[in-house]
Amino acid sequence: MDITQLATLARAYVYSGDWVADCPRPGCANTEHVYGRLNRRDPRSPRVVQLPAFSCSYCHMDAIIDWPQHMTEIMAVLALRPVPSTRNWYPEQHETAVRFGIPHGQSAQQLRDENAAHDVEPGPTLQGVG
Ligand SMILES: [Zn+2]
Repeated sequence: MDITQLATLARAYVYSGDWVADCPRPGCANTEHVYGRLNRRDPRSPRVVQLPAFSCSYCHMDAIIDWPQHMTEIMAVLALRPVPSTRNWYPEQHETAVRFGIPHGQSAQQLRDENAAHDVEPGPTLQGVG
């Protein structure tokens, strides 16, 4: 990594239940998973290994991953949703979310409210959290 890359952040977001980040290089437009598989040789292995840095497989840019502070709570609330394509979260002012009019910068409570509006069970471990 050079100094320019160290100063550039890849913003983590949740897309269909997976933590991903868009490549920060202007014009690249690639998206990478930011959790690796437990067994890298098995495509069915769960993505449970938090990666130490963003690495673009397309343009080969490396960058620091900008994780949200409440990522564990975000994932806990999203995991209650039975349909994976509904498990999405974007940080405040994320370019894709703004462009397509998708909610962004939501708190865990706002995600819980969405769950309740769609009759998703609140889950016993979330009582009294946040
Ligand atoms: Zn790239």
